[in-house]
Amino acid sequence: MEHSIEKAAAMIKNAENVIALTGAGISVESGIPDFRSAGGLWDKYDPAVYATINSFIRMPEKVWEMLFDMVDLKMGAKPNPGHLALADLESMGHLGAIITQNIDNLHQEAGNRNVIEYHGNVSRLQCIKCGTLYGLDEFDLSKKVPPRCADCDRILKPTVIFFGEAIPYDAQVRSQTLASKADLIIVVGTSAVVYPAASIPMIAKDSGARVIEFNIEETPLTHYLTDILVLGSAGKTLPELVGILRRMN
Ligand code: NAD
Repeated sequence: MEHSIEKAAAMIKNAENVIALTGAGISVESGIPDFRSAGGLWDKYDPAVYATINSFIRMPEKVWEMLFDMVDLKMGAKPNPGHLALADLESMGHLGAIITQNIDNLHQEAGNRNVIEYHGNVSRLQCIKCGTLYGLDEFDLSKKVPPRCADCDRILKPTVIFFGEAIPYDAQVRSQTLASKADLIIVVGTSAVVYPAASIPMIAKDSGARVIEFNIEETPLTHYLTDILVLGSAGKTLPELVGILRRMN
């Protein structure tokens, strides 16, 4: 296993079918804490109480206490240089798709066009009774009153995947297909402990892909899957990678 960003750039330049898997770490520099950071959302709200689908069905008002904080974080966040670098990689022809575990819509806002939302998106709300979809921006949430369905008055749920819910079928199938066809996967800012998302780099590796990780620390993938680990914050290392690739092209 290597650490050289120059070697990572050369590997990407020579690859034909590159995909990325991203996690909460890439959005930390946009002001959205990751899953495990001290002071993050999960310090304040126990995921076993606030982030399961059963909790939402039984006590949606309580779960919305956490969702208001999540929405506030998302509303205040803009894509950072790490997101923008992945959009550059796509426009330069070096990145075919992003599979993201993030629900913050920041890859789409950065300009990436082929983004698979593996865990959904907090920007859309859905009625779990009649299925009607709404945009988050259709509601004034400043009074902290949970939004309701105009048709059946049920409290709406963001289209994020709660614990106990299945990964959206389309996202699951497309991700597996992409992973099995990729010859290189870039894994950015994920602790790779949440399944089935963490199996995506394994599917890619089993199908012959190289694995490049961008993280501030080693992960469970590092010593048995990763070919190159680029250590450092994604907001710094990904723009550096793009700079090297531009000089190579
Ligand atoms: P995680 O919190 O488990 O792991 C974050 C990883 O990012 C860690 O390995 C950490 O070392 C790394 N990291 C932190 N700062 C970084 C930086 N600046 N640059 C590069 N790497 C950095 O996150 P996960 O693996 O995505 O899994 C947690 C779950 O929580 C996911 O399901 C995700 O949907 C959800 N989540 C999403 C958001 C979001 O949408 N922004 C935020 C928090 C949690």
